[in-house]
Amino acid sequence: MKSKIAYGGFLILNTLFFCVSHAQNDSIATVKGFINAKSLGVSLTHEHVMSNFGKPSDSTSFYDESRLMKQVVPYLKGLKEMGIHSIFDCTTAYFGRRIDLLEKISDASGVHIITNTGFYGSANDRYIPKFAYQLSPAELAETWTNEFFDGIEGTSVHPGFIKLAFDSGEPSEIDQKLVEAGIITHSKTGLTLAIHTGENIQAAYLTLKLLNEKGVLPNAWIWVHANKVTDDKILLEMAKKGAWISLDGVKADNVEGYVQRLSKFKKHDLLHKVLVSHDGNGFPAGGAIRQFDAIPLHLIPALKNSGFTQSEIDQLLIDNPRKAFMPSIKK
Ligand SMILES: [Zn+2]
Repeated sequence: MKSKIAYGGFLILNTLFFCVSHAQNDSIATVKGFINAKSLGVSLTHEHVMSNFGKPSDSTSFYDESRLMKQVVPYLKGLKEMGIHSIFDCTTAYFGRRIDLLEKISDASGVHIITNTGFYGSANDRYIPKFAYQLSPAELAETWTNEFFDGIEGTSVHPGFIKLAFDSGEPSEIDQKLVEAGIITHSKTGLTLAIHTGENIQAAYLTLKLLNEKGVLPNAWIWVHANKVTDDKILLEMAKKGAWISLDGVKADNVEGYVQRLSKFKKHDLLHKVLVSHDGNGFPAGGAIRQFDAIPLHLIPALKNSGFTQSEIDQLLIDNPRKAFMPSIKK
């Protein structure tokens, strides 16, 4: 009995220590628990293990589990054999985030999977839950901050980053409110903001302004789908300000364009601000895999052919992801 109590006390102390410390040390939450960010290794920073994108928001959490596992697990095992250690899963709640399935897939494949908190404001807002319109930014931030401190949906799984999104055109009131809530969440948790902004330069500048207003540094923010911007000057300028530039549409047939773009960042001494990924999908609404293996198969060899050193490649695929996503409050 005595040892049981002692053990219980240890557990409580340990948990307390963990809660106080896990936002400040070098750890990041995967779906299997916290790991030291150094263990992330080679990371794909914008993929979808699965999603129900395209389906109505209210059916988002259902998958044909046996088909899903049969399709995704061998694919992730293959990626692991190609040297990929970690995947940042960008499927948010309401378009297909399923913590239990991500856990099973990570278990079966041996790949670290990092999930997110936040809501997806693109796709004409169809995946934003109704209640988000009624809440203030601070109240929304509380929902996401609670996921960080207490775990997601009653599980012991914690989010490793915040995922948000803008539609194209003039940023809408709700998209802006979600980003404001995201910035508050960052200020409390240190979680990085990965914001689907794409070619919407106006939304990118708005993000920068909102960060400034809250005293949060631009390096708390990843400009997701920045590859869709045609003018590299804008991306280089934003990288110089400290923002992370996510070039995340790598495919087998476009690696040459990526090599040219990455060479430009290298020339401007800004390679340390770039993330590369595929925006692939292992189970897109039950369909065939949208591939996310072109980086190991095609981009890395092409970079080597163009004179990129191994340490520059490691910077892109190991160091930058670790630095971009390691939770720390950037004020
Ligand atoms: Zn995506």
